Amino acid sequence: MSEVYDVVIVGGGAAGLSAALVLARARRRVVVVKGGAPRNAPAEHMHGFLSRDGMPPADLLATGTSEVMRYGAELLDEVATGACAEPQDGYSVRLGSGRVVRGRRVLVATGLRDELPDLPGVRERWGSDVLHCPYCEGYEVRDQPLGVLGGPEPGALAHSVRQALLLPQWSADVIFFPRGMPLSDDDRVRLDTRGVRVLEGAVAGLVVDGVLRGVELSEGSMVERTAVFVAPTFYANDDVLVALGCAFDDEGWVVTDESGRTSVAGVWAAGNVSDPAAQVIAAAGAGSVAAMAINADLVFAAAEPAS
Ligand SMILES: Cc1cc2nc3c(=O)[nH]c(=O)nc-3n(C[C@H](O)[C@H](O)[C@H](O)COP(=O)(O)OP(=O)(O)OC[C@H]3O[C@@H](n4cnc5c(N)ncnc54)[C@H](O)[C@@H]3O)c2cc1C
Repeated sequence: MSEVYDVVIVGGGAAGLSAALVLARARRRVVVVKGGAPRNAPAEHMHGFLSRDGMPPADLLATGTSEVMRYGAELLDEVATGACAEPQDGYSVRLGSGRVVRGRRVLVATGLRDELPDLPGVRERWGSDVLHCPYCEGYEVRDQPLGVLGGPEPGALAHSVRQALLLPQWSADVIFFPRGMPLSDDDRVRLDTRGVRVLEGAVAGLVVDGVLRGVELSEGSMVERTAVFVAPTFYANDDVLVALGCAFDDEGWVVTDESGRTSVAGVWAAGNVSDPAAQVIAAAGAGSVAAMAINADLVFAAAEPAS
């Protein structure tokens, strides 16, 4: 059995729910395939969202869900496992239960996955005192002894140096652990100018005793730190976009225009699945922008004179 919606939204985080709100209020028939937890689920609080600062991530989604349902959008507690174009018009999205939902348009808002450095203690304390975003949690760890872990992981060099350069904004005690990463002379000068100490040598892991106590070096000593920033490698949850044949750039991110429209007609992407830098407020904004573009696309398709 398959049902036809105006829009199938895959992913029920900030981007997906925000799009659903705009589309349902535009009186579109919308279904949201919710998926599982949002990316920031390990964090107790969400920061930097005007009027929602400090709200637990689950509360944002609960509030968003009730707002969306108020306007008649349907939410399915399912994951999308595949998608394809329909012969005439629109797309089918296959769900984990085996159910298929059909939409005239599809918005993919499935977020991304953070692949963390494989060091003892990192996953255990992720989102608590192992952090990645100075703007999200820098204020909460202000004036504390902070560490930044570099490393051989993809993308870690640029990301971790940037974190280390930003963090003195929040604390005068920042130590950078390159973990064998080749730092350029220019980067060393920049770090020095910002007052960041560089501590060479292998890192064995993090010392955790209920909370983070410090960074353990391979030679056995511990450097006391109360929070450590790491540079995860970002992987988009983009299986649905791949299945639909969307184009990707050289770095593996789906190509969209400013409204989130992909290279495949009728398919949009919004939030972290297409923009890894988007914080919650930006992901919600991108969902809203995509929703208006999708609604306009449906309107103009319906108004097109028959040829
Ligand atoms: C530890 C941590 C703390 C953070 N703190 C902050 C903060 O304080 N402030 C801030 O602004 N940002 C913060 N962020 C960033 C924030 O998580 C993202 O900006 C935000 O989640 C992006 O929203 P999104 O809707 O694009 O993705 P998500 O919120 O991740 O939502 C995507 C949804 O799609 C679902 N999904 C995935 N695959 C499928 C599928 N196949 N079928 C159906 N559903 C699927 C997922 O389960 C998820 O529910 C933090 C991130 C992390 C990791």
